[in-house]
Parts: sequence; C-alpha cells; structure tokens
Amino acid sequence: MNSRRHFLFKLALTAGTPALLCGQAFAQAPPVKLEENDPVAMALGYKEDTTKVDAAKYPMHKVEQRCDNCALYTGKAGEASGPCSAFGGKLVTAAGWCAAYAKKPEPAK
Ligand code: SF4
Repeated sequence: MNSRRHFLFKLALTAGTPALLCGQAFAQAPPVKLEENDPVAMALGYKEDTTKVDAAKYPMHKVEQRCDNCALYTGKAGEASGPCSAFGGKLVTAAGWCAAYAKKPEPAK
C-alpha cells in the first residue's frame, strides 16, 4: 500500500470509529422519563395521572383525556408509558395528561 493510500485508510478508520461509537451510544441510550417538575412539563400542566390535573387551572380538561388516547403519544397499547412528541420523545405515562392534549383520530372503518 503506498503511503497516500495508507494515510487515507488510517484516516477513514480513525474518523469512522468515533462516529460508530457515538451511534452505538445513541442507539443504546435509554428513553428519558418526563418528570412533572420539568420546566416545560410544568408550563403545560403535565401530570402523570390525569385525575390529578388542576381543574381550576385547566377547565377544558376531562378525566377521560389521557396520554394513551392523545395524537402525540406513540407508545404501544397496554404499556404503562410511551414517548410523546410534544416533549421530544420523552416517556410520559399512559394515564397522564398535559395542556397540549389532542384527541387521537378514530381509526378508519
Ligand atoms: S401531548 Fe398528549 S401524550 Fe404528550 S403529555 Fe400531553 S397529553 Fe400526554
């Protein structure tokens, strides 16, 4: 291998390794749970339990509104929590609620 090719080969190896390691780190990073005291969660009145929402502050809230029937929730049916796109994919509880709630559309019949 000539020295230029050898240099490019080494460069590719050294440049690619951190990217691979970073990719693995991101791929293996566990999802982060949204805490009620997160500043954005507090601004949107997020509660892990929809029955604990402050009715005086959020008069439009209904107890049947839950994260697992919100359009922004992408968790699997039956699981206790799942990602919410309003909070950058952080995990919210299936029984939770926040002021960004939007009813999930009914499936087409
Ligand atoms: S946007 Fe929807 S899924 Fe996300 S926290 Fe608010 S109610 Fe729950």
